Amino acid sequence: MEFNNVAILLTENCNARCEMCCDSRGHVVGKTLDIDEIDLILQNIYDVRSINHISITGGEPMLYKDRIEYILNYKFDRKVNISLKSNGFWGKDYSKAEKFISKYAKKISKISLSYDEFHIPFINVDSLRNIIKISTKNNIPTEVVACFIKDSMKPGDILDMLGDDSYYTDYYFQPVIKTGSASKFDNDKYIKLLDADSDVLACISTSDPDLTINPNLDVFPCCSQVIENTILKIGNLKESNLIDIIQSILHNEVFCTLFTEGFTPFLNLLNKNDINYPKKLASPCEFCEFLFKSDWFLKILENEKFYSSSKKQ
Ligand code: SF4
Ligand code: SF4
Repeated sequence: MEFNNVAILLTENCNARCEMCCDSRGHVVGKTLDIDEIDLILQNIYDVRSINHISITGGEPMLYKDRIEYILNYKFDRKVNISLKSNGFWGKDYSKAEKFISKYAKKISKISLSYDEFHIPFINVDSLRNIIKISTKNNIPTEVVACFIKDSMKPGDILDMLGDDSYYTDYYFQPVIKTGSASKFDNDKYIKLLDADSDVLACISTSDPDLTINPNLDVFPCCSQVIENTILKIGNLKESNLIDIIQSILHNEVFCTLFTEGFTPFLNLLNKNDINYPKKLASPCEFCEFLFKSDWFLKILENEKFYSSSKKQ
């Protein structure tokens, strides 16, 4: 298993306050990476030869355009694609957006824009439409990613708002995951696509493994919205380097189970011990948060000698 992708959470800050924000980003005045910390991250990425894609995200990373430019201008000795995830607020000023996008047209591999009912109070759809138009002119692919609950707008409503520009962008939509400040909706509002008892729950990171590095330089083993709300932090770049941290992931028994067998062995253990678990899920990552929000499940694995006896099923 090789890690090709890293998400850099440039900042915890955001200019929006979306109700469904999985990371609670809009509700904190938090940490932003400074140039020395960005340098440390990029040097570590430089050293991990398998990494060929960096996604810059947040919070809202374009609040710190100078730091994005620093990453875009970093000299790697190999091809490293750099994509940008944003709420698109900066598309409001067409000429400024055009100046930025055309300057970095050869360096930005994709612009991913979040937009749905929850972003509408903060971001005008015309800002996104401007970015899609300018990116298309500069041969940069875009995508719009939208989240939904029951009774909210429907996926087609966002396409309607994008108008003709929707033909020029990819579009992904997904249910809101109950995590972070997105946990506050009534339970019956969430769209649940999976059944833990009848569907096979697999880790969604295994097909294209990715890492997250947050503004505290903590490293997590995937880029799921829930991962920072778990205890699955695997290291910190102030204490160890990324090469060693990746080795820790690859030699971690819990991650090995997750990456190779999914949640089935853990579900068997829960059933054997008569432990209740959420049956209906928006995503397997919700189940990950259920198991690893604290260390209760690790204690069960330990008590059961799950990794040191033939009890593993
Ligand atoms: S724009 Fe993104 S990071 Fe900001 S509050 Fe909304 S969902 Fe959270
Ligand atoms: S299932 Fe867990 S480890 Fe896998 S992507 Fe989701 S949160 Fe990450």
